[in-house]
Amino acid sequence: MMTSQSSPRTLEEALRRLSEDPACIPIAGCTDWMIGARSSGFEIPPLLDLLRVEELRGIRSDGDGLRIGATTTFSDLQQDELVRKSYPVLVQAAGEVGGRQIQNRATLGGNVVNASPAGDSLPVLLALDAEVEVASLEGRRRIPFRDFHTAYRRTALGEGELLTAVILPPAPGFQSFRKVGTRQAQAISKVVVAICAENQEGRWASVRIGAGSVAATPIRLRAAEAVLEGSAVGKATAEAAADAARGEAHPIDDLRSTARYRSWVLGRVVRRMLLS
Ligand SMILES: Cc1cc2nc3c(=O)[nH]c(=O)nc-3n(C[C@H](O)[C@H](O)[C@H](O)COP(=O)(O)OP(=O)(O)OC[C@H]3O[C@@H](n4cnc5c(N)ncnc54)[C@H](O)[C@@H]3O)c2cc1C
Repeated sequence: MMTSQSSPRTLEEALRRLSEDPACIPIAGCTDWMIGARSSGFEIPPLLDLLRVEELRGIRSDGDGLRIGATTTFSDLQQDELVRKSYPVLVQAAGEVGGRQIQNRATLGGNVVNASPAGDSLPVLLALDAEVEVASLEGRRRIPFRDFHTAYRRTALGEGELLTAVILPPAPGFQSFRKVGTRQAQAISKVVVAICAENQEGRWASVRIGAGSVAATPIRLRAAEAVLEGSAVGKATAEAAADAARGEAHPIDDLRSTARYRSWVLGRVVRRMLLS
């Protein structure tokens, strides 16, 4: 494999390189991109290595929320005090992305832009009602995370744009994450669910449920959310929400699972999470 690679130190340099050569591919941990490149055997295009761009890395407070640089790895997320304190749902998801070696290289931005419906962080960012920040030479814009994945493996990133950060709003009181896979580590999910909400004196409020591997893109389970909103916390509500969740998913049969199993397990997982 012969290729050319640039390793800019600043975001400005990276964006300039991308605008000079729109064929060049931004890469971060390369854990997704390399597999695609190797298996297709095509000639490698010019690569734009983002890992040395200081501005794309790191985690800091953003108002009452958090700003997470695009090349922050899943290991960084698990170790960061701010994330551990306020967003345990993200820490949990980060700990289930592949094994330790993958977590050391794989970035949050790569997971988001790779846009697999099975990506572990995506339901979490949906449930947290995150935003993504993207930048081009024209400037920066923020996109609600719920609008970022537009179709199967498609995103709202425009030509010449890079994902620069994920912005989290203030942390919700109730946070829960479950991944169902064949094995605990290194397994792509069959179903992955994140729930964020408030428990207001025994009633559910501000409920957001993100689910992966149950449709062409990660989705919000809006019908289940509607069932929960304002309802009493407890078994009957959890069961009604589980039924609603099953009804609104559109899973497919594939190598890892059947659509029927995915729908069934989605309901089980939602119910169990609400009762935990
Ligand atoms: C053995 C193994 C196990 C895995 N297990 C899991 C798992 O359990 N759960 C899971 O969710 N994933 C898993 N993955 C997939 C992968 O590790 C993750 O999706 C990872 O987060 C990708 O991040 P990366 O930095 O390696 O992305 P890269 O491979 O570098 O990039 C992925 C894509 O995003 C683009 N991109 C990256 N960063 C940016 C940016 N800032 N701006 C614009 N475009 C960008 C690239 O051009 C490319 O198209 C696994 C992969 C392997 C090899």
